[in-house]
Amino acid sequence: MRILLVFLSALLFFGCYYDYILEDEKLKQNYLWPDGKVPFSLVGFNDRETSIIFDAMCEWSLASEGKIKFHPILDTKKNKITIIKYSNFGYVGLSSCNGYEDKNEFIVVSVVEKEIILHELGHILGLLHEFQRPDAVVYIDIKLNTMPGFDIFSFCPLDAEYFIYDYKKYPFDYNSIMFSGYERFFVKKDSSILEKIRGLSIIDAWKIQDLYGKDYEKFIH
Ligand SMILES: [Zn+2]
Repeated sequence: MRILLVFLSALLFFGCYYDYILEDEKLKQNYLWPDGKVPFSLVGFNDRETSIIFDAMCEWSLASEGKIKFHPILDTKKNKITIIKYSNFGYVGLSSCNGYEDKNEFIVVSVVEKEIILHELGHILGLLHEFQRPDAVVYIDIKLNTMPGFDIFSFCPLDAEYFIYDYKKYPFDYNSIMFSGYERFFVKKDSSILEKIRGLSIIDAWKIQDLYGKDYEKFIH
């Protein structure tokens, strides 16, 4: 039971579930949103918060050169992302998937800030935490004294099979939105502090264009 609790705690802390291992390239393509369309609905946000979410969606759409399109829908039978505001949630943000899955998914946020929304949408589109790249230890050190003991597992590098993109193609990205919210837990190898992440990086855009870009048409769902 204790092991199970530790595992569940780890999952919740880093805000996403890794319930798949992708060994086959075609399988990886199945985790891309069909035609780049991401249907969504919002629950519990006021007008100001809704505009922040729309702003974040526009930023991803622009970064993808229009290949990603977020569509608000009311149809409860269609698969979609439900984005929920829950102020008493123990974490600032949580997404239920990394990439497309053939079922309803969700994002829960307790704090509505653009960087948090961008980060969770990044998971939805298929990106993983930059600090969990298999080669992350070459570039960063974890500040062990900044987190409870069991959470160390949430920050460990993942195997390459978890990534739907070829992480080796990209320089390690200290400015990735997939670092946002975790800056204080890491230092660069030269001991310099990681800057607070604001918005998408060039490499975030590069990844999403590669995933949903010119070769996207050949992907089969
Ligand atoms: Zn995350």
